[in-house]
Amino acid sequence: MKSLKTLFGATAALAATLLATSALGQTYPERTITMVVPFSAGGPTDTVTRLVAEAMSKDLGQQIVVENVGGAGGTLGAGRVASADPDGYTLLLHHIGMATSATLYRKLAYDTLNAFEYVGLVTEVPMTIVARKDFEPTDLKGLIDYMKANKDTVTVANAGIGAASHLCGMMLMSALDTQFTTVPYKGTGPAMTDLLGGQVDVMCDQTTNTTKQILGGTIKAYAVTSPARLSNLPDVPTAEEGGLSGFQIGIWHGIYAPKGTPKDITERLSKSLQLALKDPNVVARFAELGTAPSSEADATPDGLKAKLESEVARWKPVIEAAGQYAD
Ligand code: ASP
Repeated sequence: MKSLKTLFGATAALAATLLATSALGQTYPERTITMVVPFSAGGPTDTVTRLVAEAMSKDLGQQIVVENVGGAGGTLGAGRVASADPDGYTLLLHHIGMATSATLYRKLAYDTLNAFEYVGLVTEVPMTIVARKDFEPTDLKGLIDYMKANKDTVTVANAGIGAASHLCGMMLMSALDTQFTTVPYKGTGPAMTDLLGGQVDVMCDQTTNTTKQILGGTIKAYAVTSPARLSNLPDVPTAEEGGLSGFQIGIWHGIYAPKGTPKDITERLSKSLQLALKDPNVVARFAELGTAPSSEADATPDGLKAKLESEVARWKPVIEAAGQYAD
C-alpha cells in the first residue's frame, strides 16, 4: 500500500512538473531575451548574432537584446551565460572557440560540456588571411616569405587565446614554422578598425568581417580558408592554391543556454532558430558575407551537442601536442 502511495505521489509530482514545463514552453517568452556575444560589437560573431537575433525575435514576439561581453578569447562571455539563471532569458551565441577553449584554458570558470543546454548550430563561416592595404607582399607566397623574414616586426591581430583568429594565426605560425608578434583585442571588430588604420599588419578573420573591406579595396586579401574559392570573393585564392597545403578551417557557430534551462524552452528556441535561418534577409546577408545557414537537422539541440562534443575531442590532442595554453 505504502509503495503504491509512493508511486502515486511520484507520478503526481512528475505530472505536475511536466505540466509546469509545458506551460512554460507555451507562455515563453514573456519578456526581452539577452543574447550574449563573447566578442566586441561590430565583429563577425556580432554580425551573425544580430542578423539571427532579429529574425528570431520576429517569431518569438519579444525583443532579443545583444550584449557584447568580449575578452579572453570568448571565455568571459561564455562564463557569464554559464552562471546566468536557466530561464531562457540569457543565451549565448559562440563559435568554434567554445570547443578549443575547453583545452586551451586549464582553469576555465565553467565546465564546457556540462554547463550548457543546446539550441542549435547557426552557420559555418570561412576565414580569410588579410592585411592592411599598403602591406608589401602581393600574394600568399610573398606574405609567407615576408613574415618569415620580418618575424620580429610584423604584427598579427587576434581576439585573444581561443578565438578563431588566434586558431588561424596558430595554424599560420605552424605552417610557416615561425613565431610572430600577436596583438590581442576583445574581438576582431576593433582589430579591423586598426587594420584599416594601418596600426596592425595582418589578421586572419571570418568572411563575415572582411568581405566588405576586401571588395572595397580597403584591405588586402591573400587567401580564403575554405576548400574551394568563394562565389562572393572569386579573385581570392584558397590557402591550398596559394601554397599552404591542408590549410582549411571553418568557424561554426551555435546558440547555447545555461544548464537547467527547461527542454520546452530550448526546443521553442530551436524552432525559432530554424525559422530564422530561412528568413530571406538572413539567407541573403549570409550569402553576401560568404556563408550559409546551417541545415534544419543541424539547427537543433542534438545537432549542436554532437558538434561541440566532436570538436572538443578533435582539438584536444592538437592543442596538447602544441603545448600552448592560455593559463
Ligand atoms: N573573429 C573573432 C575571433 O577571432 C571574434 C569576433 O570578434 O567575432 O574569434
